[in-house]
Amino acid sequence: MKLLDGKAVAQKILGEVAGGVRDLRARTGVTPTLAVVLVGDFAASKIYIANKKRAADGVGIASRDFIYPDGLSRPALSTLLESLNADPAVHGILLQLPLPAGFDEDAAIAAIGPEKDVDGFHPQNLGRLLAGSPTVLPCTPAGCLEILDHYGAELSGAEAVVVGRSRIVGKPLAQLLLARNATVTVCHTRTRDLAAHTRRADVLCVAAGRPGVITGPMVKAGAWVVDVGINRLETGKLVGDVDFDSASQRAGAITPVPGGVGPMTIAMLLRNTLAAARRQLRA
Ligand code: NDP
Repeated sequence: MKLLDGKAVAQKILGEVAGGVRDLRARTGVTPTLAVVLVGDFAASKIYIANKKRAADGVGIASRDFIYPDGLSRPALSTLLESLNADPAVHGILLQLPLPAGFDEDAAIAAIGPEKDVDGFHPQNLGRLLAGSPTVLPCTPAGCLEILDHYGAELSGAEAVVVGRSRIVGKPLAQLLLARNATVTVCHTRTRDLAAHTRRADVLCVAAGRPGVITGPMVKAGAWVVDVGINRLETGKLVGDVDFDSASQRAGAITPVPGGVGPMTIAMLLRNTLAAARRQLRA
């Protein structure tokens, strides 16, 4: 069984991004800049943002904070996003989700300029992905593909099963696998016999947010297993959606949690930010 080390692959990508940032600065004098917007007092969001900012700093991407722990009115958020869209010194906008109750997340995402949407959630960017001509890919699905590619998974013709159909992970991941000529099945809570599907998967990607939803007997011998889930148990332990101990007995390769997809998501966010800056500067 091969352990798919997302931390190591993310380090490699971060190294490439750091080189790209240096090169862009040398050619244009501009430092790629990410605006980080957090509305509300969410403990997990604060941790995610701190991690993203630290990683940005590590590759030379500047971040600017727009943090409103006590909330912000909906019109004020619209005004803020409009001003960030119009600011040529800001190349990427990271709107940390969730937003507090009362906000329309879809409307807020759509208010981000598609060219500054470094999460790849804007409907225009998702539409381009569906149309087969993406400009920016959602970070977590792109990170999953990057790990599989790094370790040499054969996707063309493979049976790929994605568990989960969210807009930020499952659906775009299925689309990316399809674009790589995998035969893709998407499972969700109404799927009748989950194990019957997962047992056929040469590539099994799990993003359900349910610890232990996949166990060893549900995994095809030799399969590539990518566990997107991040769940904190009552004991405080961080686990994925896949029962690692039993699944790793059958998988040919598997991502751990932590240290699998999580670090890749941040690396892809920074890669998207550099790419957005290059496009905006035409450099
Ligand atoms: P959502 O809750 O938005 O979606 C979960 C999906 O899984 C839904 O489509 C749901 O089906 C499906 N699902 C839930 N339970 C089951 C089940 N028992 N059997 C089959 N399908 C099921 O979650 P996200 O996509 O946002 O996130 C998924 C997981 O990935 C979470 O643990 C999250 O923390 C983690 N995550 C990790 C990231 C990383 O960087 N590694 C980034 C983003 C998320 P239905 O549509 O029918 O309700």
